[in-house]
Amino acid sequence: MSEARTRFAPSPTGYMHIGNLRTALYEYLVAKKDNGTFILRIEDTDQGRFVEGAVDVIYNTMRDCGLKHDEGPDVGGEYGPYVQSERMGMYKQYAEQLVELGGAHYCFCDEARLEAEREEKGDSFKYDDPCKYLTKEEIQAKLDAGEPYVIRQNIDPTETACFDDEVYGHIEVSCADLDEQILLKSDGFPTYNFANVIDDHLMKISHVVRGNEYLSSTPKYNLIYDAFGWQKPTYIHLPPVMKDEFHKLSKRNGDASFQDLVAKGYLPAAIMNYIALLGWSPADNEEIFTLEELTKKFDVARISKSPSIFDIEKLTWMNGVYIRNMEPEKWHEMALPYINNAVKGNFDTHLIANILQQRMNTLGEIEEAIDFFDELPEYSTDLFVNKKMKTTDEVALTSLKASKEMLEGLTEYNFDTLHEGYLGLAGKLEMKNGQIMYPVRIAITGKERTPGGAVEISNILGKEETIRRIELAIKKLEEKLG
Ligand code: GLU
Repeated sequence: MSEARTRFAPSPTGYMHIGNLRTALYEYLVAKKDNGTFILRIEDTDQGRFVEGAVDVIYNTMRDCGLKHDEGPDVGGEYGPYVQSERMGMYKQYAEQLVELGGAHYCFCDEARLEAEREEKGDSFKYDDPCKYLTKEEIQAKLDAGEPYVIRQNIDPTETACFDDEVYGHIEVSCADLDEQILLKSDGFPTYNFANVIDDHLMKISHVVRGNEYLSSTPKYNLIYDAFGWQKPTYIHLPPVMKDEFHKLSKRNGDASFQDLVAKGYLPAAIMNYIALLGWSPADNEEIFTLEELTKKFDVARISKSPSIFDIEKLTWMNGVYIRNMEPEKWHEMALPYINNAVKGNFDTHLIANILQQRMNTLGEIEEAIDFFDELPEYSTDLFVNKKMKTTDEVALTSLKASKEMLEGLTEYNFDTLHEGYLGLAGKLEMKNGQIMYPVRIAITGKERTPGGAVEISNILGKEETIRRIELAIKKLEEKLG
């Protein structure tokens, strides 16, 4: 067999749905696994309205995700054009050829009338087109008279159509249930379904990977391939990505697109890693892998046909793993805009990035996490009482007073001297480390949960500000204890 050729064929909607991105990823993996070719084709014919910048969203998403296509509108290739609207002149001849081959027929029926009937009868509407029974001469006379027509697919209702899907297995439908759909419209342009089939054939696509909403149309597509005598592609239909047990993930329901996730501070690499697992799992149950590792591990046979649920918590966890695995310099660069947004004071951003890297799961969490640097927030002294840390107001007061004294005596102020200083106090006062560190951290941040501990944050705040905040806490506690 020759190498795989796959295509991602998005319609430019202005956003990248997570399910579509997963399709793109699997198309890429099927091609790359086989050293094959991954193609981008823009399917912009059947769109209700033109969305400004929508094609750029596709290019940018694919670039950010590392899904490099080998052929496409921007990179060219032997089988272009790769934008469907630029291929409009190509389809009519195939529709006419299909008529010659017996796979389709001219239909002169009044479309408005048919539409009304369809509307009235709903999904059950089956059209037994009288035009199928016209003689060659009758048809030619109508064509010569310039009557408007469409070209409709021929489907023999007594037949069954079947194919084997790589995920869903053997699919068989009775042709009586298939609609003799329009392939070429009265304006001479193809319908979406027809263009899709012709393009796949002309672009020599070997594997079609797409959402399972196309599963029921595939037998119709196959009848077209058969009528032409063309080789059919291998089909890999994917289960839907769900928001919960009952609802599909969809932009219409306000669910996340790739762009939304990035805006919330998820990293493209983590998103890709996560969506690889939506409907597929490796044999070894590993969960973290680069695109390159994924290419080696991926196996169509392990795609599941049951719907997968998009679990934002799992993605958040995974994103955290990616943040912790980053080069500190790279992380600093990425986090810096968020740090600068939240912290205007003159603090060492590398040190701030450092404490964030240990704790953040998304970039979106950064600003709230470090909002105490510029200004100590209002806080309640109740925070000093913590069962787990074994602290009470009295314990906190003792340890803060001792800490203030220790800090004032430091000639060198850095992470190591602070670390030694605070731990030394615990020893001296026969207290637990937490009984020193916890009250100090509350005093200098005013928050129960912070990235970084007492030592790191004291170090970033500097001697003067740390002492000032501790003095303030001492005052608060003394007032409370009376
Ligand atoms: N343009 C179609 C979509 O966005 C692609 C269908 C296909 O891959 O065959 O759903």
